[in-house]
Amino acid sequence: MTEPCSLCNKETKVYLQPNGADGLMFDCSTCGRYKISRSARGCISVWPPELIPRLRIAARRASDNENPVTILTSNYEELARSVPELAVQEKIDLLLAQYVKYSRFPGDVFKIENGESVYPLCGAANVQEWAYYHKALTDRGLLTASIKGEHWLTPAGWERIEKIKAGTVATKICFVAMSFHPDLSSAYNEGIYPALKEQKFEPLRIDRKEHNNRIDDEIVAGIRQCRFMVADFTGQRGGVYFEAGFAEGLGRQVIRCCRSGENGGLHFDVNHYNFIFWDSPQDLKEKLKNRIAATVVG
Ligand SMILES: [Zn+2]
Repeated sequence: MTEPCSLCNKETKVYLQPNGADGLMFDCSTCGRYKISRSARGCISVWPPELIPRLRIAARRASDNENPVTILTSNYEELARSVPELAVQEKIDLLLAQYVKYSRFPGDVFKIENGESVYPLCGAANVQEWAYYHKALTDRGLLTASIKGEHWLTPAGWERIEKIKAGTVATKICFVAMSFHPDLSSAYNEGIYPALKEQKFEPLRIDRKEHNNRIDDEIVAGIRQCRFMVADFTGQRGGVYFEAGFAEGLGRQVIRCCRSGENGGLHFDVNHYNFIFWDSPQDLKEKLKNRIAATVVG
């Protein structure tokens, strides 16, 4: 059975959810596999149109990580907002990184039909935007193509990827490591998120299943690409310790935070760091903004 994809309108394979669960599951070559409730599908046409490309990006990214999203009327805004706003250069780099995945080895060739199956992966809103970044890679000599439409990365393209991996390219991304317990969502939404935005940084938060190697890879990749990290230790989630340690290992600055009163339980090895202790999300926002202004070079 096919129906227009809820996110891109392309005629797409669709499945009823198993066990009589509400909603549909789409398998779209652009947006990936995702589930959507019937009520969300019914009212998607009245959602702010600027959120739809972001939902495509979120859905495709989750699908490629084998952890498809479920789009509901109650979560679509948060889902769309989880997609960082990226600079043009970052989108060009993301596209290059995607082409690296198509290359089994330097010199390997790959075909790109029309960008329809790749554009959300580089943060583009549509094929036209993808074509712009694709051309930028060619114009800069990072990508080359034969008249038969075969593409391959040039040595300069591989060099660029190595530089990105080494974190030497300026980025506005701040990796946020914290517990995803619902108790702490206001600490993020009203504290960390607005503090970063007001300082012109883009938060990157990866809140998927833990204990899954593919997601760990994504966390590692996220930390590699970030300028600095905000790590909130409230709730003592083990992963935060790992992520903060890894970021420092890569030479990234880590700003450590914790809700007041919970510092007694912090592991000994982090006790001596200059923590931001906060009482409320607003308090966290102000202190974090000040710390960023004082210590992170724009
Ligand atoms: Zn689609």
